[in-house]
Amino acid sequence: MLVVMQEGASEAQTEKVISRLVEMGFTVHRSTGVRHTVLGGVGPIDDFDPAILEVMEGVKECHRIVSPYKLASRHFKPAGTIIKIGSLDIGDSKIVSMAGPCSIENQEQIESAAEIVASGGARVIRGGAFKPRSSPYSFQGMGEEGLRILRSAADRHGLLVVSEVMDQTQIPLLFEYADILQVGARNMQNFNLLRELGKIRKPVLLKRGVAATVEELLLSAEYIMSGGNYEVILCERGIRTFETSTRNTMDIAAIPVLKRLTHLPVIADPSHGTGKRDYVLPMARAAVAAGADGLLVEVHPDPDRAISDGAQTLRPHQFSEMMQQIRAIAAAIGRAA
Ligand code: PEP
Ligand code: MN
Repeated sequence: MLVVMQEGASEAQTEKVISRLVEMGFTVHRSTGVRHTVLGGVGPIDDFDPAILEVMEGVKECHRIVSPYKLASRHFKPAGTIIKIGSLDIGDSKIVSMAGPCSIENQEQIESAAEIVASGGARVIRGGAFKPRSSPYSFQGMGEEGLRILRSAADRHGLLVVSEVMDQTQIPLLFEYADILQVGARNMQNFNLLRELGKIRKPVLLKRGVAATVEELLLSAEYIMSGGNYEVILCERGIRTFETSTRNTMDIAAIPVLKRLTHLPVIADPSHGTGKRDYVLPMARAAVAAGADGLLVEVHPDPDRAISDGAQTLRPHQFSEMMQQIRAIAAAIGRAA
């Protein structure tokens, strides 16, 4: 149930509507827009007449939310969500770049990566300390020691940190060291993890699963939001198809589809989306042209020696070329980068 309050509705009127919704058995989530306050009533109740609420004082209109995801739906927040982290706005007209190696390997590598990332104009450094590897014999990440290295390099270069959380036991550690907690493709439907992330108050970057539909991605976002954490960034990172010439098939069309269906910021990861560094730049350009609010890319001071995902990792000069090119694309569509 979605209740849109009139422009200038008083707090008392809004509170009355909230109480009525609670009485009816709904859990109420509130979104305060520039003009209207929107109340999202989430609950198992389907069969009641919206007119009951529509006649209440201060109410502009009332609708049943037909999509299976409610809080993630654009109807809940038509203007779009802007996630603020310090001076960084994610979801605004400026495209946000997040970059860094696949894995945190050692201090020297991260120091050098931070230099590359900051000088290219990206605002967020990435790097995994807990790695979801296909083989149990592959490098599994440096853990807390890695997070400490990443945080300190980021602070020295004025960068924010995004890093992956693989299960709920790691949340306190990631909460301490990272500004954004990444949920990887393999965990997009780890509902216990998503529920726990709903309880924290830090942005979550949710990657699309390799076999997940757009609707399933939005339902996973809904898991986090229904716990009260509304700061979710969605990430298109390629899906598995019959095509074998790229590691995954980068679903560029999912970007405008998501932008229509949800108010959440949408970013794109052309590194995992293609698996080959030569295709990362064209797909980064395409993602920005398609309306992505940001990019997540892998860059390493020496990708040939990277412990993981070297083949899809940009060389430093390719990264700086990408940053320049996306600025031109952003300007062409009335945005900045
Ligand atoms: C990563 O970002 O390094 C990663 C493991 O990504 P994904 O979950 O999209 O495979
Ligand atoms: Mn990777």
